[in-house]
Amino acid sequence: MHKFDLIVVGGGPGGYPLAALMARKGWKVAVVDKAGEFGGTCLNWGCIPTKALLASAKGLHFLKNAGSFGLEAGQTSFNWQKIQARKDQIVDQLRQGIVKMLEKSGVTIFNGYARLMPDKKVVLADNSEILQADKIVLAVGSIPAAPPVFPRNREIFWTSDQALQAGEIPGSLLVVGGGVIGLELGQVFGEFGSKVTIVEMMPQILPGLDNATARRLLPVFKKAGLEIFTGKKVESLEQDGNRAKAIIDGSERYFDRVLIAVGRKVNHAFMQDTGLKIELENGFIKIDEKFCSSVPGVYAIGDAIKGPMLAHKATYDAMTLAHQWLGEKIKADYSLVPSCVYTYPEISWVGQSEESLKTAGVEFKIGRSLFSANGKALIACEGDGQIKTLLSPDGKLLGAVIWGPEASNLINESTMMAQFNIDSHAFSRMIHPHPTLSEAFMESVENAFGGGVHG
Ligand code: NAD
Repeated sequence: MHKFDLIVVGGGPGGYPLAALMARKGWKVAVVDKAGEFGGTCLNWGCIPTKALLASAKGLHFLKNAGSFGLEAGQTSFNWQKIQARKDQIVDQLRQGIVKMLEKSGVTIFNGYARLMPDKKVVLADNSEILQADKIVLAVGSIPAAPPVFPRNREIFWTSDQALQAGEIPGSLLVVGGGVIGLELGQVFGEFGSKVTIVEMMPQILPGLDNATARRLLPVFKKAGLEIFTGKKVESLEQDGNRAKAIIDGSERYFDRVLIAVGRKVNHAFMQDTGLKIELENGFIKIDEKFCSSVPGVYAIGDAIKGPMLAHKATYDAMTLAHQWLGEKIKADYSLVPSCVYTYPEISWVGQSEESLKTAGVEFKIGRSLFSANGKALIACEGDGQIKTLLSPDGKLLGAVIWGPEASNLINESTMMAQFNIDSHAFSRMIHPHPTLSEAFMESVENAFGGGVHG
């Protein structure tokens, strides 16, 4: 039996930074994951492959619209196999980098699926190794939720896992769920020629996004060619030959493929058939302020616990736990976790929304700035979009919503402003280079108090 100070189960964006950091601090650390899974869902089945496909889709979109730049690109075409190979190469390169970094940090790597046993022991699924440690961290992540009402033939009824590995572009694609995955992958397949229909049961797409922005974006995605139903459920869904038959809004429709994008759930396989009872809360591992589960010495971070299922939140959990162990008196605070949707236009938001502030009875001012008045956005032919900032009467940033070019990068200005408690007066003295998109963020903050040159 191998003994360690710390065993991390799962090598994703929660598990691998924690393992590396603690090993560099001198702890004897092991991390267990399947060989091809280092980097977790984010790298292998989520953020990175989706964004790689979106980058190719956006490239094609650019070529189709080259005329806007005064360019003549002629007939556009693409090679889906090469697009997939490029995506796989990026994933491979990053995965190898993580494994090398872990080795260099002094972490012992075990390849395989880990099961958690009593007495702080971990057994590899093939029983080849038994490990034991003072502390075990479950960074086991999540898997697509495909409730039993959906047909199970994954050739036709995809989850995001199958969609990312698609061998060809389906003629038509039904996407169930108008959340982040539904919109991002819906846009990829739509750009490459699928007729895409998205059905969202809530009254708006991206239910976490502020209502006004979601309403404003619906026609933008429809104009880009996506058929979108909101406030509707797929009434029935079944296999018919090698296609899918669906009833939507009372009409019978046929689709070549279906993407089920209705959320994700915690991966509980680590405790199957182990006799171990860990307390769960709505399917998530229940933890205390020190990330400790109901089993002493067994901790959990990332998608496996409460909070948004996002790679950067998992890494934040890892860093918070590591610094707690290193003696800092801190606890996790999820009030400023940015959300980003990498469609074009990109969408991002952080902090409070207009609705949550109104519900809480908090006084606030709204600042706006349009990308149509921003030089850098117009130069890039991306003048659609706006920045909305929500500020307290004394100029503290309470929340922000951005849709338009580089929204996922620009949101960091708002997170920084809120996290470090910078007021709008001090912020407006920060020199933003010209021409940049970030000027639009400064304009929005100034606009809340009647300032801003272009607002
Ligand atoms: P989601 O929660 O973002 O969206 C699921 C959507 O499906 C919701 O809008 C929900 O109302 C809808 N829905 C549920 N059941 C339905 C039904 N029967 N019919 C119609 N609509 C239904 O989940 P997701 O898009 O599957 O993504 C899963 C997780 O992965 C999320 O936590 C997400 O934040 C994360 N993720 C993040 C990114 C990113 O950061 N860019 C990208 C992809 C996924």
